[in-house]
Amino acid sequence: MKKALHHTAIALLLLSTPACAHAAEVNLNGVVGNRALVVIDGGKPRWIAVGENSPEGVKLMSVSGDSAVFEIAGRRETLTMGQGARVSAGSASTGARTVILTADARGHFFSAGAINGGSVRFLIDTEPHADHTTGHFVFSPPAVIIAAAGAGEAMKREGHEARNRKRMLDNPTMVDEFKGYRMITPHIEYQQKMNLSLGQRSFELIYLKGVHSEADTAVWLPRERVLFATAAVGVKRFPNIRPFLTIPDILASIKLMRALNPEIVIAGHGEPGTTTIFDDMEGYCALLLERVGQMVREGKSLEQIKVGLRMPEYDDWKAKDRLPSNVDAAYRAVTAAK
Ligand SMILES: [Zn+2]
Repeated sequence: MKKALHHTAIALLLLSTPACAHAAEVNLNGVVGNRALVVIDGGKPRWIAVGENSPEGVKLMSVSGDSAVFEIAGRRETLTMGQGARVSAGSASTGARTVILTADARGHFFSAGAINGGSVRFLIDTEPHADHTTGHFVFSPPAVIIAAAGAGEAMKREGHEARNRKRMLDNPTMVDEFKGYRMITPHIEYQQKMNLSLGQRSFELIYLKGVHSEADTAVWLPRERVLFATAAVGVKRFPNIRPFLTIPDILASIKLMRALNPEIVIAGHGEPGTTTIFDDMEGYCALLLERVGQMVREGKSLEQIKVGLRMPEYDDWKAKDRLPSNVDAAYRAVTAAK
């Protein structure tokens, strides 16, 4: 029942010690693909790509795993995530205090916040489907669960509790895993947008209308310019377009997310990347709408279109069994436009 989570741990760090005025101080906060998230001289976190030179004269030479090689003031320094180098007379570790946000074994990101002086853990649901929300009872209490409006209602309507209890009975090996299970609906449901500030890090939760479920949330880290686009897009993967979702809504959400100008885009499934993930999904939708529209104009029925439509350009995409649902959605879109 567990769908694999494909989140890559992005470790982020915030610098709390001021930089020495004349030293080139570099801290490595994250590595994704061929880019490194760095803080130079205590400034704003910034992404630089391999081969790129920062205005302060810090050049990223290479990245591998959670480390990166820099050329700082003419010397090579290898930094691992959360580590800093100060280059002046000599090079020494800064001992900066760090807050690191990494995914746990279940693929969840946790961060502690405070309300009225008491420590609080937050859990953000990016969607209410059972593979995302059944585990609430493991984290809450004490975690405060946050989702977009409608998430709790969808969980109840889909009957998660009864379904999970049946699974327990059908599969005795799951009994231990389900120990203490009860359905917990989100404690906080926001409309449209919610800002969550945890110390120096802030998260913007953005409601995405009609992209995957009844209550989808994208998570935007404005300082780091990292966007969790969640199930709105996948990497080389056909979307699951349920009957109540529309292609125009999916395209509108992509437009909204693109306008944030993210440096890194993390899709619901697949490797972290850039806005080319959006380009691919838009290109796919445009071609699908064009081909289905053409067949409608030729007088073909929905059934005939499903049999006859070919999308060879996307042969390497995963989840091909979803293509018929995509054709349904395209058909709805092109016939509604008439
Ligand atoms: Zn889902």
